[in-house]
Amino acid sequence: MAVPFRRTSKTRKNKRRTHLKLEVPGMVECPDCGEYKLSHRVCKACGSYKGEKVASK
Ligand SMILES: [Zn+2]
Repeated sequence: MAVPFRRTSKTRKNKRRTHLKLEVPGMVECPDCGEYKLSHRVCKACGSYKGEKVASK
């Protein structure tokens, strides 16, 4: 099995891990209830979308 010739430096390791981060999908405040919701989705808390009630709670 191949063995790395040089040990990976802290800098190199950290640079590689810049892609490993917590993903926070587009969260916005609901204009109706102020609860955080996913953008372009119906609000989970009050069931509104674009100022209209589209789902009953
Ligand atoms: Zn809402």
